[in-house]
Amino acid sequence: MATTETSHNFLEEIIEENLKNGTYKSIVTRFPPEPNGYLHIGHASSICLNFNLTKKYPGYTNLRFDDTNPVTEDTEYVESIKEDIRWLGFEWKHERYASDYFDQLYEFAVTLIKKGLAYVDDSSSDEIAKMKGTPTEPGKNSPFRNRSTEENISLFEKMKNGEFPDGSRTLRAKIDMAHINMLMRDPVLYRIKHAHHHRTGDKWCIYPMYDMAHGQSDSIENVTHSICTLEFVPHRELYDWLIEKLEIYPSHQYEFARRNINYTVTSKRKLLQLVNEKYVAGWDDPRMPTISGLRRRGYTPESIRDFCERIGVAKRENLVDVGLLEFCVREHLNKIALRRMVVFDPVKVVITNYPEEYELLKSENNPEDESAGTREIPFGRELYIERDDFIENPPKKYFRLAPGQKVRLKSAYIIKCDEMIKDADGNIKELHCTYLPESRSGHDTSGIHVKGTLHWVSKNNAVEVEVREYDRLFKVENPAGEDGDFKDYINEHSLKIVKGFAEPSLLYAKSEDRFQFLRKGYYCLDKDSANGKFIFNRTVTLKDAWAKEQQKYGSNKP
Ligand code: ATP
Ligand code: MG
Repeated sequence: MATTETSHNFLEEIIEENLKNGTYKSIVTRFPPEPNGYLHIGHASSICLNFNLTKKYPGYTNLRFDDTNPVTEDTEYVESIKEDIRWLGFEWKHERYASDYFDQLYEFAVTLIKKGLAYVDDSSSDEIAKMKGTPTEPGKNSPFRNRSTEENISLFEKMKNGEFPDGSRTLRAKIDMAHINMLMRDPVLYRIKHAHHHRTGDKWCIYPMYDMAHGQSDSIENVTHSICTLEFVPHRELYDWLIEKLEIYPSHQYEFARRNINYTVTSKRKLLQLVNEKYVAGWDDPRMPTISGLRRRGYTPESIRDFCERIGVAKRENLVDVGLLEFCVREHLNKIALRRMVVFDPVKVVITNYPEEYELLKSENNPEDESAGTREIPFGRELYIERDDFIENPPKKYFRLAPGQKVRLKSAYIIKCDEMIKDADGNIKELHCTYLPESRSGHDTSGIHVKGTLHWVSKNNAVEVEVREYDRLFKVENPAGEDGDFKDYINEHSLKIVKGFAEPSLLYAKSEDRFQFLRKGYYCLDKDSANGKFIFNRTVTLKDAWAKEQQKYGSNKP
């Protein structure tokens, strides 16, 4: 964990101070997603931050859906968000919805009107924008600013009762049109929207704006530390103003830097475009930076939590290298993945001095974990090895197979290449080898030491599988920051489908299993596998192959 006793993040420092001086005995945080898309890796940072604080200190975390925009929200998203948070390993205390508070929020608005702190404005949104002023010039008061309390109450009620069309009126706070903070220049608190809401149905046709809902919901839930991202810094003044004027529980807002990773986009709106315009197969496409995409790709909750802890909490925005995320998943998968052998581009090997029958050899499932046990692999007269593990004219220090040269086959025998058979075009058709019976792994009495060890499969027992190899979804580090449309920078080579010949134990692969295909990478079974068809997703290669790929594509630009 990045946060040890000696290195506290700034929020932990604030909370420790609060607990020490008795401001709070326990704390309440919340994770407040808008249910308008699936969660992504940036959200994971916020989830880990909020939930870890109440794991570390007394208190709890709520899950609150910020569902004040009926048009973009959906219950499909609500369900996916809950699934993803639980999968990451966190459990909330209360499941709440901003829409649960619509009656209460309406009452709050009426209170503000009665205090002379809010008014109904008949101006259009264009007119409001024109009267707003600029950072260096004050705005102008709306001609409707000085309506009487009675008139405001009656008009607001009519707004609620559906007597006015969309956009014809708003409720605005009455603060100061010359305020140095533009957000304090009579911000809109309520708007008219005749739209069906995924929870409240057609009950409401006025909806609170973010500022009128978020802080008040925090307050209703007695949230002590309301943590959000830096773009909300200017909103803090309004957050505090509303709480003060309404005389409700004083929640406090704290901001930290958004976490974005390179070679992708982390904005639900942009991810939705990729889904709708079919650049990817769905929200859980293994190339997506969504939690569900990462899960399908083979990422583990442990690896994502580790990533979030390593990048920590910052006060300034920066783009995090996706290589760190890949590092974290490699670290975890190395500990837990079952080792298996799969040959991708096979060349046939005939062991000429081996009998016709098969033999079952034992191989360890995971050298990092003895408790993972062993499995049996059939060894026979005809095998497959990778085509590029053989070379006709080996350079010095080439330890793989070559004419007259010896290698060890993993968990099996030492073999020597006696002869290569070529087809009419001069391509290698098969390799004739002899094995050393006394060299069986674990029982080797041959006294011969070879430097190279190859993976292999028994040809007649091999299972043909499909392997989906993924690469970065974008060709540039920060597609959202480039000129033009971010979709112009999509990497058209982000999915490559290849065939593999797998050892037969992979017939028993389950969706939750994690595998290392020896000398290749980490893989998991994809949900598209069905009816005897096995499809594996490559989670990550064993080593970083990106530098090499970049050379292949020539440059960073499309
Ligand atoms: P998006 O732009 O993807 O729609 P959002 O901020 O609108 O993101 P919300 O559903 O409102 O998404 O976010 C829920 C919580 O997650 C908020 O507290 C938000 O600040 C936080 N969050 C969203 N994106 C990131 C990110 N990239 N890094 C850290 N926290 C984030
Ligand atoms: Mg949002």
